[in-house]
Amino acid sequence: MGRYAGPVCRLCRRVGEKLFLKGERCFTPRCAIERRRTPPGNQSGRRRRVSDHGIQLREKQKARYIYGIMEGQFRRYMSQAFKRPGVTGQYLLELLERRLDNAVYRLGFAESRRQARQLVLHGHFTVNGRKTNIPSYMLRPGDVIAWKESHKQRDFFKALTEDIPKRPVPSWLDLDTNNMTGNVSSVPAEEDLESAIDTRLIVEFYSR
Ligand code: SF4
Repeated sequence: MGRYAGPVCRLCRRVGEKLFLKGERCFTPRCAIERRRTPPGNQSGRRRRVSDHGIQLREKQKARYIYGIMEGQFRRYMSQAFKRPGVTGQYLLELLERRLDNAVYRLGFAESRRQARQLVLHGHFTVNGRKTNIPSYMLRPGDVIAWKESHKQRDFFKALTEDIPKRPVPSWLDLDTNNMTGNVSSVPAEEDLESAIDTRLIVEFYSR
């Protein structure tokens, strides 16, 4: 599965807001949005008037950028959400949240979803005891995410064990800081979903 390999701060400037794609740096004055809020390539510094379609498109792109998902896969999540009875936008966010790379990030095992994806791809994790290196792996209640034993000697892991208790974890995940494992206790509740995304606009975009 492909991924965007360009500069991520450019994505924030493209949608005109902070998407927190880079971990700690996003909270410092070095954040590109703090220094230059104009879209990339816009030399005049002025934003053009955006149509309704443009606003919907931007919201969809924002969701893709936040979760680091390519267009085709996002469309597949969307069609899954459309098939399910209930609130389509909410189920879309639930699917995005249940991805393994997102859960690794939410548990505090990585600074950003981008880093979480790298860690998963490099085989640092197991799910229910089996090595799983698929970032889009869809977690279910009862699943247990753990670090591979062989990776526990690495400096990165040792630094993480000192830092991790300080981070908040959503209610659908139980973090065991002693064993550095995460247990999926339920599906994500509405309050656990990404509040920065207006799913109504995304549903409208795909309903045209
Ligand atoms: Fe976005 Fe973070 Fe870059 Fe700021 S530092 S522009 S929030 S990715």
